[in-house]
Amino acid sequence: MHLRLLPSAFHRIPATDGLPPSQPLTSFILRSDLGPGPLAVDAGSLGMVGEAEDMARIRDVLLTHAHIDHIATLPMWLEALLSKDRAPIPVHATKETIEALRAHFFNDVIFPNFEELKEEDGRPLMQFRMVSPEEPCEIAGFEVLGFRVDHPVPTTGYWISDGEDAVVFASDSGPTERLWEVVRDQPNVRAVVLETSFPDWMEHIARPSGHLTPMLLGEELRKVPDGVRVLITHMKPAYRGEIIRCVEALRDPRVELLEPGSEVTIGGVTPSSGPPSLPAHPPEPLPVDPSRPR
Ligand SMILES: [Zn+2]
Ligand SMILES: [Zn+2]
Repeated sequence: MHLRLLPSAFHRIPATDGLPPSQPLTSFILRSDLGPGPLAVDAGSLGMVGEAEDMARIRDVLLTHAHIDHIATLPMWLEALLSKDRAPIPVHATKETIEALRAHFFNDVIFPNFEELKEEDGRPLMQFRMVSPEEPCEIAGFEVLGFRVDHPVPTTGYWISDGEDAVVFASDSGPTERLWEVVRDQPNVRAVVLETSFPDWMEHIARPSGHLTPMLLGEELRKVPDGVRVLITHMKPAYRGEIIRCVEALRDPRVELLEPGSEVTIGGVTPSSGPPSLPAHPPEPLPVDPSRPR
């Protein structure tokens, strides 16, 4: 199984500060040599990486919650798939996330209501498919189990398996117990994707906003079973150097920083036989400032 964190900032390449590119938006692509996928988990930068044909290879998108850094370019991804015999394009999420997207995003103000717009033959452009926490389901050929995590809006982490290997996504979350029960109880968990959003001195913001700092990450690491890799994402761009230094100071060999644009192989098998992945960087870097925290 292969996991890619999509890039979401436009940098001079290579980055001049020697750090991995910053990551203001969150989207992952999961694919498996056993057949399932490609599946997108969250759509922060899904719709702005690669050409329309690259985006059209993604079968389904699964959302963890409705915060803008996880859904920002969902409309652009949907537009890339229009009139490609994909209607209705499936968007999987919990009831609360679907309600938030209907009320605040696809509301004919921020963006057209893609559930109401139809292809020529009458099929709606988009269809929300409800995921219920703690009820196993199948999405894009993967087995999926959702579970609640600790964040101010209803947010769901996911255990996702191709039948041989599994990865657990925490999404945005402060310290949690249910995630670690899932990691211990569900089969074949090879890796956990955790966030570390703020530096330690910003714990007064991290805790009430449902995020981790390196110190809180260190406490979570005590709950990691043997043999499970811990992949770190979601470092707020303005503080990423500081966060990286503090995470590295934990000196935990299970911890890896997930670099935007990179793909990691989780579990067995060779990385070469799956469908082609999206390009590592957007073709036309644009002069925007990615360093503003959100
Ligand atoms: Zn969030
Ligand atoms: Zn977030």
